[in-house]
Amino acid sequence: QAVFQSDIGTLLEQVGTGKESLSFMKRRIRRLAAQWASAARRLDDKLRNHWREEKRILVHVGFLTEESGDVFSPKVLKGGPLGEMVQWADILTALHVLGHNLKISVSLKELSLGVPPGRGSCPLTGPLPFDLIYTDYHGLQQMKQHMGLSLRKHKCHIRVIDTFGTEPAYNHEEYATLHGYRTNWGYWNLHGQQYMTMFPHTPDNSFMGFVAEELNETERLNIQKNKVNNMALVYGKEASMWKGKEKFLAILHRYMEIHGTVYYETQRPPEVPTYVKNHGLLPQHELQQLLRKAKLFIGFGFPYEGPAPLEAIANGCIFLQPKFNPPHSSLNHEFFRGKPTSRKVSSQHPYAEQYIGRPHVITIDFNNSEEFDATIREIMRINVKPFLPYEYTCEGMLERVHAYIQNQVINSSRVWPGSPPSPFILLPNSRILTWASNASSFSFWPPLSALRLLASLEGQSCVKACQSAGLICEPALYRFINIKEAFSALEFQCEGVESEMNHLFPAFSAEHAECGLQQDPLLFSCAGSSPRYQRLCPCRDYRKGQVALCRDCL
Ligand code: UDP
Repeated sequence: QAVFQSDIGTLLEQVGTGKESLSFMKRRIRRLAAQWASAARRLDDKLRNHWREEKRILVHVGFLTEESGDVFSPKVLKGGPLGEMVQWADILTALHVLGHNLKISVSLKELSLGVPPGRGSCPLTGPLPFDLIYTDYHGLQQMKQHMGLSLRKHKCHIRVIDTFGTEPAYNHEEYATLHGYRTNWGYWNLHGQQYMTMFPHTPDNSFMGFVAEELNETERLNIQKNKVNNMALVYGKEASMWKGKEKFLAILHRYMEIHGTVYYETQRPPEVPTYVKNHGLLPQHELQQLLRKAKLFIGFGFPYEGPAPLEAIANGCIFLQPKFNPPHSSLNHEFFRGKPTSRKVSSQHPYAEQYIGRPHVITIDFNNSEEFDATIREIMRINVKPFLPYEYTCEGMLERVHAYIQNQVINSSRVWPGSPPSPFILLPNSRILTWASNASSFSFWPPLSALRLLASLEGQSCVKACQSAGLICEPALYRFINIKEAFSALEFQCEGVESEMNHLFPAFSAEHAECGLQQDPLLFSCAGSSPRYQRLCPCRDYRKGQVALCRDCL
C-alpha cells in the first residue's frame, strides 16, 4: 500500500547535487512543498477507499546525463529552456508524494546502480527491479545501448516524457519507414500512451503536465488590489526572442510600461529597447512577484507551449499571444521539423488559446496593427481574476498521475489479442456502443461505460470529431470499435471489409463502400485525416478541468 508522504527531505537527498539544473529543480521542490502537502491531504481524503499499490519506480532523466551532452545544465542561469526542468521537478515530487519507491538517475553510472546484488554489471537485463521507468528520448537511447535486446521485454514498463508528443504513425518503425513518417525521434514501437506530454496536445499520448503556483484567498485579493494597470511583462528570457519585434513593442509602449526578464552578461542586449525595464533572468519566485503586479503578459511567438503563460494567468495576468495563420507544424517550421508529430500549432500556446481563452487569454493576428492597438487598450480596461485549470494544480497532477499508475495497462503484445469479449451489443441508430451487463466483469481502463462511438467527417481526424461532440478521443478504446459491427452501428454499408496497416483505420471509404479495419493495434491513432476516409472514433467523456480522466476513471 502506498502512503502519501508530505516530507520532501529524502526526495531532495535523492535528487543530488553538482549541477545547476539539479539546484533549480531542488529550489522548485522546496518552494512548492507546502502546496504539494496540502494537495496530498485533499486527494487522500478523496481516495479514502482506494487501494494504492506502492510501485518501484526508476526515473532516468536522460537529457541531464553527461553522456547525452547535458546541454541544458549550463544554460539554466543563462536564459535557456527551463520548462523541462520544471516538469521533471514536478514529476519527481508527484511520484514521491504519492508514496512510491523512487530511484532517481541522472547519469549512466547511476543507471547501473539499479543492480540487485550479485546480478553482474548490467542491471536491467535480468528480471526488472522496477515496475515503472520514467525517462525521455535520450534516456531511451541509453537504455537501449545498455540493455540491448532485453529492452524489448521490459518495454511496457517504460514511460517517455516527451514535451511535444509522438503520434502513432511516427512511432511505428516499419510504417514510418514505408510511409515517410521517419524522424530523428520516433520509431520506438511503443504504445502511444507511453509517451507523456507537457500539455494535453494529442490524446494519442498521455498527458503528464506540471504544476503552477496556487494562491490562497488573501493572496488572490491582494493581487487584484495591487495590479498595475499599465504594466506589461514580455514572455521571452532570451534576447533572440525579441528580435524584429520593435513594431509591436513601440505600439505597446504607447500605453504601457514594459518589463522584461532577458538574460544578459554585462551589457543590455541590443534587441531589447532602452525604454524596456529589463530585470535580467529572475529566480522563479521573483518572477512570480513581477507577474503579480503585471496586467499583461505578452508573447511574441516563441518559445512555444512553455509553462510561463500558465504561471502568468495563475497570477492574474492577461496573456496576449499571436495567432499563427497558417499554423506552424513539422511541415512548415524549422522548430518542429523532425519532431514526430503532424500537429498544427495554431498559436504560440494552443492550450492557453483552446482550454482557457478569454478573458484570460487573447489570441490575435499581430500583423494587424489596428487590432493589436485596440486589444492593448481593451486589456487595460478589463479586470480578470487569477485562474489555474485544475489539471495544473498539485491536486490535479497527483490525481492524474495516481490514476495512470494504478490503472493504465500497456499491452506489451503486438499480436491482436483476439476478438473483444462478447456478448457485444450495438444499439441500432443510437451511435452508442454498449456492452451486455456481464461485460462489467471485464475491467478496462478507461471503463467501457465511457465509450461513445462516432464517425468523423471526410478529411477530419478523430481528435477533431470527438472534440466537436464535446468529447475526447481515447486511443485505449480503439480495440473495442475495430470490428465489423461498428460499421453497421454507424449505418455504413460495407461492400467489402479489409484489414490493413493504416493509421487512419478503422475507417470507411465512401468511394468504394470499403470498410477498413486496423491490422496493427500499435497504429491506432486519434491524429490523422484524409479526404478519402470517414474514420471510426472511440470518444469518451472527460472531467471538467481534468481532460486526461473520464468521469468514471477514478
Ligand atoms: N522563468 C524563470 N525566470 C525568468 C523567466 C522564466 O525562472 O526570468 C521560469 C518560469 O517560471 C517557467 C520556466 O522558466 O516556469 C520556463 O519558462 P518558459 O515558459 O519560458 O519555457 P521554456 O522555454 O523555458 O521551456
